[in-house]
Amino acid sequence: MRIGFIGLGNMGHPMCRNLVQMGHAVKAYDVVPAFRDRAASHGAEAASSVTECVAGAEAVITMLPSSPHVRSVYGGDAGVIAHARPGTLLIDCSTIDPLTAREVAFDALAKGLAMVDAPVSGGTAGAQAATLTFMVGGGPREYERAKPILACMGKNVVHCGASGNGQVAKLCNNMMLAVEMIATSEAMTLATLLGMDAKVFAGIVNTSSGRCWSSETYNPYPGVLENVPASNGYAGGFGSDLMLKDLTLVTEAAKSARLPVLLGAIAQQVYQKHSADGHGGKDFSSVILQYLKPQAR
Ligand code: NAD
Repeated sequence: MRIGFIGLGNMGHPMCRNLVQMGHAVKAYDVVPAFRDRAASHGAEAASSVTECVAGAEAVITMLPSSPHVRSVYGGDAGVIAHARPGTLLIDCSTIDPLTAREVAFDALAKGLAMVDAPVSGGTAGAQAATLTFMVGGGPREYERAKPILACMGKNVVHCGASGNGQVAKLCNNMMLAVEMIATSEAMTLATLLGMDAKVFAGIVNTSSGRCWSSETYNPYPGVLENVPASNGYAGGFGSDLMLKDLTLVTEAAKSARLPVLLGAIAQQVYQKHSADGHGGKDFSSVILQYLKPQAR
């Protein structure tokens, strides 16, 4: 297919490269010229504007930082919606608020363009290995059109229902994950402060009712598991600032639903403090540093 790809950062670059490797003709655009050159060196055609990127495309994929970027790339005289041919499939893989996703999809539909939101989980490792999970919001026909394209960049493509629901699934999952990671951090720290060995305690939790993904697969306590960020100075993984971004989006979305999300809001504040303390670039499991005494780190 002829595909336009916009947003060639940490996630977008490897996703774009995987599409090229699967034989698609990809035109790639980013505001950063060096990223366009990097995409060209991997077999994409560099475009110098959104308009050029979208021209002649059968599908357009965007992977942008946040809602304002999505609004500006899709909207306005020089945007995707103004320049894509009627019938073009638009796929936004950015993590943004569900309301913006629905508004942009509505504007697209009004111009005869099909659109889905398809945020991802799996991080940069999943983007590189083409093992991402895509959570897709949009009509069934749009989902069926998007599926084979997304399958070039991931191994799970899940239809979540109507427009915006991909974002709902992504944000609600990450709210649970953040709460669970903070709870694991508190319990691991307290148990060790009260005298338990961290590995012995984790072993008990992981065969007991406190078990969760954060305790079993991604334990934040240094040295409990090998090959996780906690045993590597919290480098790599999913950045605390990205978790903070998702928590901010989900607590805002909860306001529009008038639902109190007490633990989600506390988690948002914990990560905000963690970021303010200078840990925003570290993996999100580093939130345990809010609890660990310096000698235990
Ligand atoms: P990034 O900042 O590395 O990449 C975004 C790219 O978009 C940048 O290269 C930037 O120059 C480009 N961009 C910004 N405005 C633009 C515009 N107007 N026109 C064209 N290009 C523009 O971010 P990322 O880590 O690749 O994340 C992208 C999205 O994926 C975010 O919404 C993020 O929340 C989500 N996400 C990231 C991860 C992760 O581990 N990095 C995991 C899951 C989801």
